[in-house]
Amino acid sequence: MNKLTEKTILVTGASSGIGAAVVRQCVQAGAIVIAADRDDPATHTGLDVPHQNLTLDVSDAAAVQAAIAGLKHLDGVVNAAGIVGQGSLQQIDQQKWQHVMDVNVTGTMLVCKYASEVMLATNTQGSIVNLCSAYGLTGGPGNIAYNVSKSAIWQLTRCAAADLGASGIRVNAVGPGYIETPMTDMLKNAGAFRDQFIAMHLLKRPGQAEEVATAICFLLSDDASYITGATLPVDGGFTAAHVPMVNLG
Ligand code: NAP
Repeated sequence: MNKLTEKTILVTGASSGIGAAVVRQCVQAGAIVIAADRDDPATHTGLDVPHQNLTLDVSDAAAVQAAIAGLKHLDGVVNAAGIVGQGSLQQIDQQKWQHVMDVNVTGTMLVCKYASEVMLATNTQGSIVNLCSAYGLTGGPGNIAYNVSKSAIWQLTRCAAADLGASGIRVNAVGPGYIETPMTDMLKNAGAFRDQFIAMHLLKRPGQAEEVATAICFLLSDDASYITGATLPVDGGFTAAHVPMVNLG
């Protein structure tokens, strides 16, 4: 059965990685998908399913407001747009920090805000799904702006759920571990570091964008009708336990 039949779903960061996998699965589940990304839709060559295109930089408040106000109806939103912006506390500068916050935190907030206004105006009990990270729950070295931004999305998800719950709009998130997408391409040749990173996941392998998209489509669907304010780990067990584990038996 198609879980998302005739639902209209906006996906940001739609031309790559997890966002593109969400577009594919939403279309396969019967949804009408508006695929938004900051680049030219003509370059979205990986999106080989029917969809509408929207060019949108989520960190541009006026652009987000104008683009979403132009949508008559929305049942679902997936905030998959995001950037890394690597650097430790010593390496980060204010400009880079601010850029990561602008895209990851402010961008997600703006899309939640204006998309929920469309849902409220049409009395639609919609579903919003944000992209956190396992590193939004735990600390880690060398990526301070990204990790802090993902922690903020965790809290944004709870607070937006609190603001919108009485209207029947659900707001949830997923928290992926290491997923093989263009964002993590730099790990492909990282040798022992990559092996150690994989070993920190209980399932001892990286995840795939399709595995995250399946969890997102569940949260979008009516099957998740009593779930809001939650962040679902899709992290191969990364946040479930510290590894290596000591067996004292
Ligand atoms: P990705 O392949 O790099 O895709 C991210 C997409 O967002 C790209 O198409 C990117 O466009 C777009 N984007 C960047 N800045 C934007 C902006 N200002 N406005 C609109 N779109 C923008 O990354 P991914 O791995 O699919 O990640 C998707 C989400 O999952 C991100 O929020 C990421 O933090 C999160 N996540 C990923 C992992 C992982 O291991 N991959 C783990 C945890 C969480 P450009 O290509 O032009 O930059």
